[in-house]
Amino acid sequence: MTPLYRYLLARITEGGPIPLSEYMQTCLIHPEYGYYVTRDPLGAAGDFTTAPEISQMFGELLGLSLAQAWLDLGAPVPFALVELGPGRGTLMADMLRAAAKVPGFADAAQVHLIEVSAALRAAQRKTLQGIKVHWHERLAGVPDLPIFLVANEFFDALPIRQMQRDGPGWRECCIGQQDGALAFGLGARMPVPALEYRLADTKDGDIVELCPAGADIVHEIGQRIAARGGAALIVDYGDWRTLGDTFQALSGHAHTDPLAAPGAADLTAHVDFEALAEAATPAAHSRLTPQGIFLERLGITRRAQALAGGLSGASLDAHVAAHRRLTHPAEMGTLFKVMALYPKGAVPPPGCTT
Ligand code: SAH
Repeated sequence: MTPLYRYLLARITEGGPIPLSEYMQTCLIHPEYGYYVTRDPLGAAGDFTTAPEISQMFGELLGLSLAQAWLDLGAPVPFALVELGPGRGTLMADMLRAAAKVPGFADAAQVHLIEVSAALRAAQRKTLQGIKVHWHERLAGVPDLPIFLVANEFFDALPIRQMQRDGPGWRECCIGQQDGALAFGLGARMPVPALEYRLADTKDGDIVELCPAGADIVHEIGQRIAARGGAALIVDYGDWRTLGDTFQALSGHAHTDPLAAPGAADLTAHVDFEALAEAATPAAHSRLTPQGIFLERLGITRRAQALAGGLSGASLDAHVAAHRRLTHPAEMGTLFKVMALYPKGAVPPPGCTT
């Protein structure tokens, strides 16, 4: 039994069931025992791998897309280069290395990282040695400047509420206890005004997920972009208007029971990009673009060929596999999507379309 299992069981036994969002939040970022707080979960020895850890090409192309967006908006100086949930700092390092080729970009950029995990801040400090970095717990800490932002696999880690349709209302998915073990349950039927628009495309028993924390952050990004200019690239797995239960736990690269080991497994849910796009107003949002298409539009195959020229044997095989993994529809190419936010009336960052 993990320390958080005991903690949650005691709390639920005393105070009754808690919503799934509270369970997820506690498991992931509890200040002492939270999953992200206590470890670096990335890589082969960890629980999952992300696109920037698969190949440097991912960060290079995102960096160049944002640098072009910066040029398109008149190259404001200074600006905040922001990353939400930067993991090991690999994406930011690759973005900066590539974008440094764009005259003026690196000098104008103030790097701001939003990270709750002390373990991952240490990893980021190491990866980004020699670069002046500011860390914040939340986006609100970033100064009021034009903002160029990236978030890869960040929104899937934010706590969701799950609602099950019941006639004209909804029942919220909760975590309670049964015979001394954590167990899923459903709350009483209630109206949910925020889900009024889902009454038309759902039927009894359907599950719909809400991510209030994600909507709040995107709202803040949208307001900053509209007021000061900038652009954001949001990359994650999910879709436009999600339907069904996408809550999942990963441990050692395999799916596991999300209630079995709170604080010791990664918990995620698919991102509902429609809800994020709505929250981004008054900024504009691009079409939702599959990651493979986004990277192809930015020239990943030509970049892959250039890098392949310097490789042979096992490292060449790994490089070819990485290119396929990032772009192929059967791998990350279709499941992962990209949505850009940018000022109304401006062009979207390269790779994304209106
Ligand atoms: N973007 C990285 C890491 C993804 S893992 C990559 O692509 O490799 C999710 C990241 O978000 C981690 O850095 C984690 O510590 C951070 N994170 C999770 N929840 C957070 C929250 N509520 N606020 C800030 N950072 C958070």
